[in-house]
Amino acid sequence: MISSPAVQATVDHSALTHNVRLLVQASAPARVIAVLKANAYGHGAVPVARTVLAAGASQIGVATLAEAFELRAGGIEAPIIAWLHAFDPDEAVPAFAEAVNLGIELGVSTSAQLRAVSEAALRADSLAVVAVKVDTGLNRGGFVRADWRAAFACLANAEAAGAVQVRAVFSHLANADRPECHTNTEQARSLREAVALAREAGLDPKLVHLANSPAVLTRPKALVNGLPAFNATRPGVAVYGLSPIPDRDFGLIPAMTLTARVGAVKRIQPGDGVSYGHDFVAQEPTTLGLLPIGYADGLSRALAGKFEVTIRGKRYPGVGRVCMDQVMVDLGPGDPPVREGDIATLFGPGKDGEQTADDWARASGTINYEIVTQIRGRVRLRHSNV
Ligand SMILES: *Cc1c(COP(=O)(O)O)cnc(C)c1O
Repeated sequence: MISSPAVQATVDHSALTHNVRLLVQASAPARVIAVLKANAYGHGAVPVARTVLAAGASQIGVATLAEAFELRAGGIEAPIIAWLHAFDPDEAVPAFAEAVNLGIELGVSTSAQLRAVSEAALRADSLAVVAVKVDTGLNRGGFVRADWRAAFACLANAEAAGAVQVRAVFSHLANADRPECHTNTEQARSLREAVALAREAGLDPKLVHLANSPAVLTRPKALVNGLPAFNATRPGVAVYGLSPIPDRDFGLIPAMTLTARVGAVKRIQPGDGVSYGHDFVAQEPTTLGLLPIGYADGLSRALAGKFEVTIRGKRYPGVGRVCMDQVMVDLGPGDPPVREGDIATLFGPGKDGEQTADDWARASGTINYEIVTQIRGRVRLRHSNV
C-alpha cells in the first residue's frame, strides 16, 4: 500500500468531541443519539462511533441494519438503533433475528415490519427491542396516524407474549431548519398524542425523540413556540461540525478536511485552452497545477470554475471542467511558489483561509450534508487527534 495517498479526507476527532459536547449540552436533560448513518456522513463510522461515545453520546443511530452490523463488527457495543428497512419478505425475519441477537434496537415503520420483528424475536435468543416510528407530518417513513392504535395494540400483544420490548416512540421533523415554522409545533403535538396512545395501549416507552441537529441547536427559540426535545435527540450533521442552517454559526467545528497533492505544475500561453472542451482559455501566460481528484471522488462537475484551493496559505481558482480523476487550478502569471507534491486543501474548517463544505454547497447548489457524504472513490480517510 502507498503510505501517503494523493487524496485524503482527514477527520479531526478533537472537532468531533467538541461538537458532541456542545450537542450534549444543548440537548440536556435529553440524551443524545448520535446519527452515524452513511458511514458517519462520510467520516468513517467505526472510529467516529468510538469518539462520539467517549464524548457523551449515549446511543448511536443509523439508517440500515447493514450499517448497524458494521458497527458491531467493528467492536462498538453501545446501544444502536437502525430505522430504515426494506426487505424481500423472505429476508426480513432472518435479518431482524440477527439484529436481535446483536442487541440492535429496531425502528419499525410498517405492520409488515412489526410482524417480521415479532417472528424474529421468537427465533432469536433475546427480546426484540423496538422503537416505533410514527409519521407526524413528514410523510416519509413511520406509521400514519390512522394506524397508530392498531400498531400499538399489536406491540402490546407482542410484549405480553414476551417477544418484544417497546423502548421508544419517535418521529422526524419536516421543517426543523426553519425553527419558526408552525409544522414543528404541530409535529411535536402529534408525537405527544402518539405517546399517549401508546401508554393507553399498555406500552411504556422510556424514550421519546424528535429533534435532529437544527431542532437541537435552535431549541432555546423553538421552546418558546413549544418544540420540546422530549428525552432524547438525534443530531447528525452537527456532530460533524456542519451547520444545519446555512449562514448560522452555532460554534461547531467542521471535522473533515479534504486535501490533494499537486501532481504536476506546467506553464501555458495566452490562447491555450484547459481541460475537456477548453471551457477555460488563458488570457495571459500562466501556470497550472494538476490535482488528482475528480467527480469520481466527490468533486462535483457542478463546481467547475466555482471553487478555490489553498496551497501554502494562498488561494488558487479551479479552472476548466472537472474530469473523472483530475482537475486543474490556475497558479497565476508570476512564478508560483507551488511545487509538484505540495498539498492543496480543497475544503476544511476554514481556519487557515481554505474553503469550507458550506462554500462548496453554495457554489454547487446543494447542502453541506451532500458535500461530505459524496466524498468517495480514491479518497483515503485518515483520522487525527483520536
Ligand atoms: C438523518 C436523520 C437524522 C439526523 O438529521 P440531521 O439533520 O443530520 O441532524 C435524525 N433522524 C432521522 C430519522 C434521520 O434520518
